[in-house]
Amino acid sequence: MQLLNQQFINNQWVPSKGTRLLDVMNPYREERIAQVTAGDAADVDAAVQAAQQAQPGWQALGGAARAKYLEGFADALEARLDSITTLSATNNGKPLAEAGIDLEDAIACYRYYAKQAKALDARQGELVSVEMEGVEARTYHDPVGVVGLIAPWNFPLVTSAWKLAPALAAGCTAVLKPSEVTPIPELVLAEIALEIALPAGVLNLLNGDGEGIGAPLTHHPGVDKISFTGSNRVGEAVMQAASDRTASVSLELGGKSPILVMEDADPAQAADWVMAGIYFNAGQICSATSRLLVHEDIAEALYAALGERMDALTLGDPLAEGTDLGPLTSAKQRDAVQRYLDLAEQEGLTVVRDAKHRTLPTQGYFLAPTLYLDVPLESRLWKEEIFGPVLCARSVTSEAEAIQLANDSSFGLAATVISGDPERAKRIGRQLKAGSIWYNSEQLVLPETAWGGFKRSGIGRELGPWGLSAYLEVKHVIGPAA
Ligand code: NAD
Repeated sequence: MQLLNQQFINNQWVPSKGTRLLDVMNPYREERIAQVTAGDAADVDAAVQAAQQAQPGWQALGGAARAKYLEGFADALEARLDSITTLSATNNGKPLAEAGIDLEDAIACYRYYAKQAKALDARQGELVSVEMEGVEARTYHDPVGVVGLIAPWNFPLVTSAWKLAPALAAGCTAVLKPSEVTPIPELVLAEIALEIALPAGVLNLLNGDGEGIGAPLTHHPGVDKISFTGSNRVGEAVMQAASDRTASVSLELGGKSPILVMEDADPAQAADWVMAGIYFNAGQICSATSRLLVHEDIAEALYAALGERMDALTLGDPLAEGTDLGPLTSAKQRDAVQRYLDLAEQEGLTVVRDAKHRTLPTQGYFLAPTLYLDVPLESRLWKEEIFGPVLCARSVTSEAEAIQLANDSSFGLAATVISGDPERAKRIGRQLKAGSIWYNSEQLVLPETAWGGFKRSGIGRELGPWGLSAYLEVKHVIGPAA
């Protein structure tokens, strides 16, 4: 069993000042695979100090030089593809194929921001066209400074790449806090920092929980910005902490995203997309399309196609070939989802498939893929993020009703529209209040496109040029033209 009681600060592994240890589990074997320090505010102080010292030098290197390090991260991750995929599947419980996709996404993100870092050099000192004569105005993009990056457990390495790559490209230095639930795959980032000789203090990685590291990091006066991905409850606390010193925040929070299936869709094709939107990563996806709105004309055909596909899913060992669905990532998450299933039973919801329709593996934090029909609009299952393999469906009588119900949510992270007419799907998509709209596709996320939510799903955007801007301050230099 690994003991992870060290912190990566200033390119050195140093003992954590924290005295509490937390168990890190293999959710399939229900076995403890490591213990990780819960961290301590003194670790945060040391890491922030290292990041502060490193920041001016890192900024002065320029974008092209920083890009080389980002390419170094991508190359080093690529070289370890198999081993990290296995670590990630073991710690997170996601099937190997899904863990592999995560890693490919992370690598693509480092490569994309290497390009953006180079392009940033050319954008420095751009002349601004002004109406006033005799005046010269130029725009510069300075890094925000020291950033605190806080990641969740559902997509380790991807969520941290979406933060770390643009932050380093911009010239910020970072204190990264992986989730204490899945710290193991993220350790590789420190290993790579040493391998590629990243200047000391540019990346500091702190293990710990919210109390030991998360809260001290968000409150720290030396941290100029916090980028957080996680739950709404914690996201709101992060925002409050940052408001004490007017530090900027980016928040990627929860979702309850709709998938609209129109009457002109092919039910079999639509069923494939519906499945991909909810049962990937056992439904532990912020952008899971967990509210199905299907036109009544094809509802029956779609539900039948979904039932067949749900029966065909193989639940089991994430490391085994052919596994479609692993366990939930923690006992805590399994129990949280189970509470919704219990509530559904109390509410007497109509079930298409649930645990009664299959035998679950004898070990692991498994829950059966579940589909409920005609879920009442006031049910908590319809309104709240469940974050598990649970799909709630309703049939609708018109396009207008589908759009109205899709937008009737406090969240706005993503939405999917399925229609036989792509132009119609796009038109409907334009009327939905969410940051990412997929039409005739699902969960298609590319480094060049923006990621982030409307309403309670968050503040700001990751990925694309917007993801870089999140770590830059705009500065104008203006005076008499020479
Ligand atoms: P969480 O909020 O419990 O934890 C997220 C991170 O915050 C962890 O690293 C945790 O240790 C840390 N933390 C806990 N308390 C803290 C505090 N007081 N101050 C600072 N940090 C603290 O979330 P989770 O359970 O790890 O992740 C699941 C949630 O994340 C879901 O709601 C999901 O929708 C959301 N999520 C959103 C996106 C997105 O892009 N919008 C992506 C992935 C996950």
